[in-house]
Amino acid sequence: MVDLATRETKHRSGENRDSYLDNIKETCTSIFEGMAVTFSYLFRPPITTQYPDRMPVSVQDTLPDRYRGHLYVHMDTCISCLLCEKACPIECIKIEDVRIEKIMITAADGKPTPKVKEPTLFNINMYKCMYCGLCVDPCPTGAIRMTKEFEGSTENIQNLHFRFITPERRAMAIRLGEEQERKAAEKKKAHAAEAPAAKVVPTQTVADAKAAPPVEASAAAAPAATPPVPRAAAPSGENGGSASDATPVPAPNPPAAPTTPGGNVTNAPPGRPDEPGAA
Ligand code: SF4
Ligand code: SF4
Repeated sequence: MVDLATRETKHRSGENRDSYLDNIKETCTSIFEGMAVTFSYLFRPPITTQYPDRMPVSVQDTLPDRYRGHLYVHMDTCISCLLCEKACPIECIKIEDVRIEKIMITAADGKPTPKVKEPTLFNINMYKCMYCGLCVDPCPTGAIRMTKEFEGSTENIQNLHFRFITPERRAMAIRLGEEQERKAAEKKKAHAAEAPAAKVVPTQTVADAKAAPPVEASAAAAPAATPPVPRAAAPSGENGGSASDATPVPAPNPPAAPTTPGGNVTNAPPGRPDEPGAA
C-alpha cells in the first residue's frame, strides 16, 4: 500500500502524470487491436455451418468412417443369436424370438449362414445407450452396426426407443414359429409311434419268458422231447397191442450189435451173450 507521503512525493515530481497518460495510450491501443481483428472478418468468407438446412454436404458425409452414431439392425441378416444382447453392459437391447425352419442367409461379409430363429421383438434404448460399440463386435453376421446418425433431439424420449420389428414382420415371424412348432409336434408324434414298434420284440420276449415254465420244469420235460430210442426188438404187448401202445420202458444201453459173418444183425436179446453156434 502506497502511503500518502510517497504519493504526495510522486505527484510533486510529475511521475503520476506520466503513468496516467501511459494508461490512456495502452487502452486505445488494445481497443484498436481488438477492432482490427473484428473488422478483418468483414472481408473473409463465412465459415458458419447453417445446420441442418443449408449444408453444401450432409454432416454425416463429413464424419469419419468409425464414427459411433445411432445403432441400426438389418433384420434380414439377424439370426437372433442374442450375442449383442448379452454383450451390452447396461441392457439396452431386448430380443425375443421364435424357432423357425432352418434357412440360409447371406451375412454382411457374403458368407452363407444358417438361420433357425426369427426375432419377434428387437428393441434398443438409444436414450440409454452409451455408444460403446460392445454389441457390434460379437455379431456373427454384421447385422447390427453403428451409423453416422447423431441427431437425437426430440420432444418425446420414446422416439429414441428404437423398434426394429414392424407389426407385419412380427406377425410373419409368429406364423413361421407356429408352423415350425406344428411340424416339430408331428415329427415327435411320428417318432413316438415308431418307437414302440421297434420295441415289440424285446417286450414279447420278456412276456414269453415270464410265461415260460421254470428252468427245473423245462429240464424235467426235456427227456420227453428226446427222440425215442429205436425199439425194433421190443416185444409187442400181450393183448396184441402195437408197440406204440406199450408202456414205455427205459431205453437200454444199446450194446455193440454183434453181426453174423454175413453181416446181418442178430435177433438175440440184448445183453445175451451170443453163442458161437447159434448162427
Ligand atoms: S453401444 Fe454399448 S451401450 Fe449401446 S447398446 Fe451397444 S453395447 Fe449397449
Ligand atoms: S449379434 Fe447380430 S445376429 Fe446376433 S442377435 Fe444381435 S444383431 Fe442379431
